[in-house]
Amino acid sequence: MEFSARTKELLAARAGYKCSFRRCQIETGGPTTTIEGTDGRAGIAVAAHIYAASKNGPRPPGERTAEEISDISNGVWMCRNHGTMIDESQSQYPADDVIQMKKVREFAQGLSLHDPDISYFASWIGPRRLDEIVWANLPDLDVEQIRAAVVREGKRCITLTPIPVPPAEFVLKPVSVATRRALPAPKPVVGGATYSRDYRRAVELISTWAESIEVDGVARRGFIRDGHVKLTARDPDTGQLLDASIWTMATVKGIHRFTYSNGEFVRLQVTTHVGPMSNLFWRLKVDVTEGICKTQSTLALVGSISPQTSYEWFERDQFDEYRKVVEKLEEGWEPVGFVSLELGDWAEPDAVHPEPFEIDLKAPIEHIEKSVRNSSKVQLGYELGDQWRMRFHFTPELFNEELTEATIRDASEWLLARRDAAPYPTRGSTEPLVMLNARYAIRLTFRDGNLMFRITPAK
Ligand SMILES: [Zn+2]
Repeated sequence: MEFSARTKELLAARAGYKCSFRRCQIETGGPTTTIEGTDGRAGIAVAAHIYAASKNGPRPPGERTAEEISDISNGVWMCRNHGTMIDESQSQYPADDVIQMKKVREFAQGLSLHDPDISYFASWIGPRRLDEIVWANLPDLDVEQIRAAVVREGKRCITLTPIPVPPAEFVLKPVSVATRRALPAPKPVVGGATYSRDYRRAVELISTWAESIEVDGVARRGFIRDGHVKLTARDPDTGQLLDASIWTMATVKGIHRFTYSNGEFVRLQVTTHVGPMSNLFWRLKVDVTEGICKTQSTLALVGSISPQTSYEWFERDQFDEYRKVVEKLEEGWEPVGFVSLELGDWAEPDAVHPEPFEIDLKAPIEHIEKSVRNSSKVQLGYELGDQWRMRFHFTPELFNEELTEATIRDASEWLLARRDAAPYPTRGSTEPLVMLNARYAIRLTFRDGNLMFRITPAK
């Protein structure tokens, strides 16, 4: 009642030469060299009986004839361990369970042979995982559902497997000052190169966003939303981060898809909104195609900040952070940007991806210097508001290039002395501080609790 050689061969092939025992799926066949030195085959497997050949086992043959016992329908392909196991511990493996194992293995093997999607992705997830998916779909064995699960898991493997994750102790060490001085060219900046770190960050961000906005599945993640970024500066020599940062709105775009023909595609785009309290315009673009990650990350300074009055406390807090960042940029610190893990109009500044993106400062030095000059004038405006206990208005006249800080301080002192001396006027102004033309000039004026630089007739 042994199986014929032909039946054993059929059973092995139908199981894909893998053990059918649940969660085993070990390979049971392969090449070897015979003693004579010719090519041969090796394997450790058996064609086990579902219903035993002997009448005494817990899987007794019942009324089955000898022919039925040695028929292929009564065989299951197993590695030698599991073949022995189900034979020796028959009580633990009732016939129905063994039949189920055979059915799952052969069904899974059939799918990975005939279904192109399953065939492709099964090679990523492996036969054991494939069989588990089939087990999970018992008893219906809905091929559509099985395929969807295999493709979903396969893509996850493809996304994660080929990416070399940098070791935990990897630190981007900036070049030392001495080395940098010795270098003929400025140190290379982000752009065009392959950065596996940026790839990983981009995928992590898009995955987090996709989860939070519930885009279906892993395959087609693509959206444009409002988000937030945190811009700060980093000491290029020590890597130390500034403890101030600008928290600003941005438009974020995320695409992550995988196609059979073109492979993986990732695009992360972040563009900050320039507003009254930040003129920093960061444009980040991370593109992954054909296994190459290209990053463009640039910072420009657009226009000037424009706070309203010294009584807008929220603006003042934002300004303090802004000023510290811009001053460090002028000192040669490099800009870096953190991207928020949360999307939407509102987000916690702490909820950012912990690793910053490097940014290439594209602004000409004059723009940076002008932003620093303007921000020290804004700082002075806040000081005047405090000193006068009035609402200081940040009018465009304050930023007139000819109006120096020394002039501003002198003008303020002169006018304050008149306000605080009898007969205590409620309004007043200085002499012209900057002549705009023959007829108009800028003066410092106060009136009804408001203090500002204004254009007035020169006479
Ligand atoms: Zn096995």
